[in-house]
Amino acid sequence: MNRAIEKVIQPSEFHMVGDGFRVHSFFPSQEIDSSRMSPFVLFDYNPKFHFSPTMVERWVGPHPHRGFETVTIAFEWSVSHHDSSGHSGTIYPGDVQWMTAGSGVLHKEYHEKKFSEKGGIFQMTQIWVNLPKKDKMSQPKYQAITWEQRWIYKLENKSGEVQVIAGEYKWTKWPASTFSPIEMYDIKLNEWWKVDLFFPKNHNVCLLILDGEIQIENEKIKEDSFVLFSNNAEDIVIEGVKKSTILVLAWEPIGEPMVHYGPFVMNEESEIREAMDDFRRGKFGELEN
Ligand code: MN
Repeated sequence: MNRAIEKVIQPSEFHMVGDGFRVHSFFPSQEIDSSRMSPFVLFDYNPKFHFSPTMVERWVGPHPHRGFETVTIAFEWSVSHHDSSGHSGTIYPGDVQWMTAGSGVLHKEYHEKKFSEKGGIFQMTQIWVNLPKKDKMSQPKYQAITWEQRWIYKLENKSGEVQVIAGEYKWTKWPASTFSPIEMYDIKLNEWWKVDLFFPKNHNVCLLILDGEIQIENEKIKEDSFVLFSNNAEDIVIEGVKKSTILVLAWEPIGEPMVHYGPFVMNEESEIREAMDDFRRGKFGELEN
C-alpha cells in the first residue's frame, strides 16, 4: 500500500514580500494544520513570474530573524542577501541557502543587480524551519549548497535523479547539519519514469511541483501544486507525466510550544517580547539600506 494524498493546494492568493518576491504562502494558512508541519513554520512560493527590467534593485529591506532557519532555493534566476555580520552571497538556479538565524541576524534579500537590469522569469521558494528549544539561541550560520555540491542519486536508465539537499535517499546523504530529522530532495524525473520514496509512517511528507506534471496513484497533478500526504503508509511512487522537477519535504514533528510573530519564532510570548526589545536596542546589529 502507498501513502494516500490528503490534500492538493494550488497557489491562489499572492502577496509581495518587499517588492522583490511575489509569493503564495502554502502555510501558515487556513488550509493546513500548522502543528502537523512542525518544524516547518512557513512555506512561501514565488511561481514563475516575469519581472520587468528596472534600474532600482527589487528587494526586501533590512529585517531581523531569531529562533529558526530560512532555507531559500532559487529555481529561475538568483537571490542575493547581505547581513549585519558582513555575510553576503548570491544563490543561482539549483542552489540552496540554508541560514540558521539562531540568536539573531539582521539581513536584506534582493534580486541580483544583473537580473534587475535585464528582467526575466523568476522562481524561488523560502521555507522556515523551526529550531528545537535548546538550539534557538545558537550562533547564526550559513550553509551555501551549490547545485554541484549536492549529493545525487541517479535513477535507473537515466530516468532522473534525486538531489539530496538534506537528510538521506538510499544511502546518499547530504552531510549538512539540520537540528531535527528532515529530508529535503530536489527530484528531476523524465516523462513516464517513476521514482519511489520511503518515509517512516509517523513522518509527515509534502511536495511541490516546480515544473512539469506528475501522477501519484491515479491522480494527475500539475505544475505549482502543493501536495500533503496522509500517514497511512510508508511508500510513495511518483510518475512523471511530463519531464518534472519536484521538491519533497519529509519531517518528524518537534512537539514543543511555538509562538510565531512576524520575523521571530520562539517558544514563549515573553521570548517574542525579548526579541522585539533586543531589536529596538540594536542588538541585531546594523545594516544600511
Ligand atoms: Mn529574511
